[in-house]
Amino acid sequence: MSDAAVATPTETEDEFRARARAFLDEHATGLVFDLPDPRAAAELEANKVFQQKLADANLAGITMPTEYGGLGYPKSYERVWREEYSKSADMTTQLTISHGMCMPMMTEYGTDEQKKQFLPDMLSAKTVWCQMFSEPGAGSDVASLQTRAMLDGDEWIINGQKVWTTLAHVSDYGILIARTDPEQPKHRGITMFVVDMKAPGVEIRPIHQVDGGMHFNEIFFTDVRIPRSWQVGELNAGWGLATAMLMYERVAIGTGSSSGIKTPTSDFLFKTAKKFGKNTDRVMRQELIQLYSEEVTKSLVSLQTRAAMKAGKTPGPGGSLGKLHGAKIARMSRSITMNLGGPAADAWDPSDEASKRYSQSTLRSYAANIAGGTDEIQKNIIGDRVLGLPRDISVDKNLAFKDLLKN
Ligand SMILES: Cc1cc2nc3c(=O)[nH]c(=O)nc-3n(C[C@H](O)[C@H](O)[C@H](O)COP(=O)(O)OP(=O)(O)OC[C@H]3O[C@@H](n4cnc5c(N)ncnc54)[C@H](O)[C@@H]3O)c2cc1C
Repeated sequence: MSDAAVATPTETEDEFRARARAFLDEHATGLVFDLPDPRAAAELEANKVFQQKLADANLAGITMPTEYGGLGYPKSYERVWREEYSKSADMTTQLTISHGMCMPMMTEYGTDEQKKQFLPDMLSAKTVWCQMFSEPGAGSDVASLQTRAMLDGDEWIINGQKVWTTLAHVSDYGILIARTDPEQPKHRGITMFVVDMKAPGVEIRPIHQVDGGMHFNEIFFTDVRIPRSWQVGELNAGWGLATAMLMYERVAIGTGSSSGIKTPTSDFLFKTAKKFGKNTDRVMRQELIQLYSEEVTKSLVSLQTRAAMKAGKTPGPGGSLGKLHGAKIARMSRSITMNLGGPAADAWDPSDEASKRYSQSTLRSYAANIAGGTDEIQKNIIGDRVLGLPRDISVDKNLAFKDLLKN
């Protein structure tokens, strides 16, 4: 993020910490929902209420320049906030895409006009944002996307389809990548845009998940018009921006907002094993300690990534490491949960809310190996860009997109 507008804080770090702590003690009391919430609407609403209170208390957007609605404080205050926030319940889970991915992108790549228009409401969660990259024929290889954007006077016209779009149904805006020049090779003719999710021609359909949820969607665009000024970055340079957003995504998923060593999953499963009388079982103990070690390692990797970001660096391929650790933790904890709970760990009794939450989280854990780029793709990135191994052979790299075989 830009350092352009670092303001002189009106409070010391200690005063800021005390103010943050007092706010969190009063408002970060955890969220529990009595009603089924398959579309995550109730949880998102509660997250928005919390975020609005945060903005009203002048605690949102600590390093964001004041002209875009933030405090404009130095990065050291952000660290103080993270330290305090990590001691409280997470109150903004459903704002991860808005704040962890779309906000850094608009801050880094938006025009001044775009930042003034979008950032203040995004920060206070008055508006919620989603990410529209994946398509039926373009997931891991997202550069194969076929959604088209064509310029018509002062407007772009969008036609095509996106898929797996988390929270599109409750979003006000989304960041979209679309093909703007099929004459160029597939990575070069792509541009990034902001889209109004309520615009005529945007049709959003839910996708039903195995855990009973419907958090993500298919989106169909039919002659959707957006102002020309909503183009983000240079024309046909969207691939570089998409890569940057994917890095922010991996950090948001794999690193999270907390600081310090965190072992919440193994802590929970240690207690559960005790409850089931399995804490003396040798195999179970071995699995639990492996999980604990993995969580400690992930925390250390996250601290390194956060430190690099604090030093002003855009997250690099190292973000993939945190994401990969997170996916491994999900896989390991699923196996332990199944060993402890047996069939009840993935088949719930609808009248038993506790069993339902337990099995839903087991089923949901499969997403960790896919969302934000699959494990195989993270390993490719680490191999190519961290370890310097030879890259995969790419036969279509220099061919015009219009000449490629498509499904
Ligand atoms: C919970 C969840 C939320 C999501 N939210 C969003 C969202 O908000 N916005 C959005 O745009 N997308 C979203 N996605 C989509 C996600 O980014 C894609 O599912 C992911 O990138 C994989 O693409 P795919 O599903 O098309 O699988 P494919 O790309 O078809 O992959 C199929 C299999 O092939 C393997 N594979 C593919 N290419 C290679 C390769 N080169 N080397 C080795 N193995 C390979 C993959 O690892 C995988 O095992 C979400 C997905 C999930 C699960």
